[in-house]
Amino acid sequence: MKKYCLFLFFALFVFLCCSCGRQPNPPSQALPSAQPSSSTPSAGETLDPTSVTETSTPSAEHLHTFGEWKVVKEATCVSEGQKERSCACGLTERETVPAVGHTTVADPGTTPTCTEEGLTAGSHCALCGKILEDQHALPPLGHDYQNGVCVRCGAEQPPSTGLVFSGDSMDSCKLIGIGNCFDSTVVIPDEYEGKPVRAIGADAFAKATRVRSVIIPDSVHVIERDAFSGCGSLESVLIPEGVVWIYAEAFRDCTALKTVKIPDSVTILGAGAFWGCSSLTEAVIGKRVTKLPKQLFTYCRSLESVTLPEGLTEIGSSAFMNCEALKDLTLPESLRSIADNAFASCKSLAALTIPDGVTTIGAFAISNCTSLSQVLLPSGITKLEGVVLNSCSFEFISVPEGVRTIEESAISSCPSLKTVILPRSLEKIDPTVFSDCEALATVLFRGTEDEWQKIEGVAENEQLAGAQIIFSYKVPDYPIRL
Ligand SMILES: [Zn+2]
Ligand SMILES: [Zn+2]
Ligand SMILES: [Zn+2]
Repeated sequence: MKKYCLFLFFALFVFLCCSCGRQPNPPSQALPSAQPSSSTPSAGETLDPTSVTETSTPSAEHLHTFGEWKVVKEATCVSEGQKERSCACGLTERETVPAVGHTTVADPGTTPTCTEEGLTAGSHCALCGKILEDQHALPPLGHDYQNGVCVRCGAEQPPSTGLVFSGDSMDSCKLIGIGNCFDSTVVIPDEYEGKPVRAIGADAFAKATRVRSVIIPDSVHVIERDAFSGCGSLESVLIPEGVVWIYAEAFRDCTALKTVKIPDSVTILGAGAFWGCSSLTEAVIGKRVTKLPKQLFTYCRSLESVTLPEGLTEIGSSAFMNCEALKDLTLPESLRSIADNAFASCKSLAALTIPDGVTTIGAFAISNCTSLSQVLLPSGITKLEGVVLNSCSFEFISVPEGVRTIEESAISSCPSLKTVILPRSLEKIDPTVFSDCEALATVLFRGTEDEWQKIEGVAENEQLAGAQIIFSYKVPDYPIRL
């Protein structure tokens, strides 16, 4: 019986040591737990968590067999975790698990609008939710009004307050003054106390130097005399469809005004309406204007481009006088008369074709146009009045067939003029015609020598006396290059 018990004990020892994968210690050595070594961890001890366990034990022959690693503390984004595994002998081995770091997710920004805040772009961690980059609020942009409408969102600019109105009649009213409105862009409301605003009264904005732009509502029919005269800062004004009359000098001396468009609803433009608008570069005249009033653009020294409507019949006196930047201008076929000084001192004007329907050209109409090298006179004219063409730079001029009379100094002081075509219809020429045209050398006369002799004033004309006269000239006026 004692022998049998010793055998069982030995068999159990072999079984235990085989299960942990180590060579069984010789029976002469004790179990690690029974005889711990000072340098070898014993069962139930733990190892330095950062190091791997020794796999052999000098003093103990037990070879540890560890199970799977088990995470005992999860690593987070910023802190280490821990894992451990154990041997059947009770030894536990521990290791740290490095921190995983944040997982960055972008938080897109939003653009602010005219009225709502936006956000800057930012980011957060998908794992722990920590904000990695803060998002900051961006203030609303505010509206950017141009011509009464926000260019970003289309919102209409609210009407200005503080303007002064008067009861124009029972059912309409008139803006009569700027009052205590301090807006640089003035938006005129379309009604006041329930009555539509129909007119901008005389001098309403006169010399309102802080006003840079004005939005006129389409309820307005009339812009009265001097309504905006002397608004030296006024750069833009939107004249709406609906305005019918613009009175005299309504925009006189608006020296900052850059462009103007007269809508097709306008039928009457007053004299000097844009006189002295020295920054005005472009003007478009609406289709219903039939008469350009006198002094309409006088001293608009920057005016380069003017669009005139077909249907225009008259250009008033001095309408373009001293428009020194005007290079070319197309006159409509409907035109019938050009008044005195109409194009006087248009010093950049290079060419001018006067439509054939024009029958009247006033004194000094084309004078001091020092760049004007080509003029085509209309075939419908019968008389060249006094001093029509004066101080211009053309070398050649053809007086159209049909002209019977050329009056005093009608063509004079043109120092470049070398050649003239005169019509067979000519009956009378003033002795002062061609005065101070020192270069005049050739006259191409469409009639015979006999007809030439019968023209009143020819014999007394000094310049003609010095020129070569060629009779029976047949070549058409244009194109011609001499
Ligand atoms: Zn073990
Ligand atoms: Zn995180
Ligand atoms: Zn807006």
